[in-house]
Amino acid sequence: MNIHEYQAKELLKTYGVPVPDGAVAYSDAQAASVAEEIGGSRWVVKAQIHAGGRGKAGGVKVAHSIEEVRQYADAMLGSHLVTHQTGPGGSLVQRLWVEQASHIKKEYYLGFVIDRGNQRITLIASSEGGMEIEEVAKETPEKIVKEVVDPAIGLLDFQCRKVATAIGLKGKLMPQAVRLMKAIYRCMRDKDALQAEINPLAIVGESDESLMVLDAKFNFDDNALYRQRTITEMRDLAEEDPKEVEASGHGLNYIALDGNIGCIVNGAGLAMASLDAITLHGGRPANFLDVGGGASPEKVTNACRIVLEDPNVRCILVNIFAGINRCDWIAKGLIQACDSLQIKVPLIVRLAGTNVDEGRKILAESGLSFITAENLDDAAAKAVAIVKG
Ligand code: ADP
Ligand code: MG
Repeated sequence: MNIHEYQAKELLKTYGVPVPDGAVAYSDAQAASVAEEIGGSRWVVKAQIHAGGRGKAGGVKVAHSIEEVRQYADAMLGSHLVTHQTGPGGSLVQRLWVEQASHIKKEYYLGFVIDRGNQRITLIASSEGGMEIEEVAKETPEKIVKEVVDPAIGLLDFQCRKVATAIGLKGKLMPQAVRLMKAIYRCMRDKDALQAEINPLAIVGESDESLMVLDAKFNFDDNALYRQRTITEMRDLAEEDPKEVEASGHGLNYIALDGNIGCIVNGAGLAMASLDAITLHGGRPANFLDVGGGASPEKVTNACRIVLEDPNVRCILVNIFAGINRCDWIAKGLIQACDSLQIKVPLIVRLAGTNVDEGRKILAESGLSFITAENLDDAAAKAVAIVKG
């Protein structure tokens, strides 16, 4: 689960991490009054969407007067902000964060990720902040430093000093950097985050220099949300694909893709194999929906409905290898779906495993025109043949 920048900053503030004074705003009038309340002479108006690259796309604006704050807020709210991470349709801006503008001396990158290779939280830092870390990794990989954290002892001071030195922080900024890195690490660990990205971390101030977090992005482990009330309350459903939200409400996993073959499968591994088989035959999956184990007929009907909500879907490939699942339930679900949803696109069905004979019999005797397939390869070939006309 992702959260907004302002939520990440409010969270980090509770861990003692320095962030600019700011507040959230839902209207231009509120943005203006927030700016007045914060005080000062320069403010930054920032569109709150779950995507990066807002700065380049016009979603981060420095205002020099309260009137300017109001104008930027008015222009941003209700607009679709298109960044390199949103896709061509952009994301609807419904909230803003207004904060004090900092006098920036230099920008750094600081990130905490879980390195799956060594199964540990790893601190990543670079002197090249403000820009995409992927670019830095490609162009100048020597400018990225990494430090692995031992979970039994946590992030140690000397590790923070090592990283800070490597990116060029020194003098009185050194103890600040150590405090800040340790606080972000604690926050990440306590809240079951998978990733915390500070870009930029900046040296700010005209005469008196200090470190400040100017942008923060967090991603949390969905499997741990049950014990993270404060994080769960930050969820913004407006930022998620409505079909994915609906699917999760039914205990289904839906992932949107950009082709035209809808896929209903059980299990993530079979989903991947199905996508590969479709691609191998020259087709493109529109999505995949994982019905999981023990899928009831109702669940299968819901799955069909959600997959069909994507107008690009020209046929549905149902690929079930039943272990805990039962092929007869899947078959009943498909028939129910055909009845209640009046499905107009062809359904290609491949069933294997528990109660497969019964499942095939139910489909054959239904009087409906399912296209049955012997195996995954056959199913993928038939689906691709249909969309290619
Ligand atoms: P994004 O990563 O989505 O582009 P950021 O929050 O990183 O958005 O903002 C982009 C850039 O805007 C930053 O790299 C920084 O230079 C500038 N910026 C962001 N917040 C402030 C601030 N409070 N004061 C001054 N400049 C800022
Ligand atoms: Mg940023």
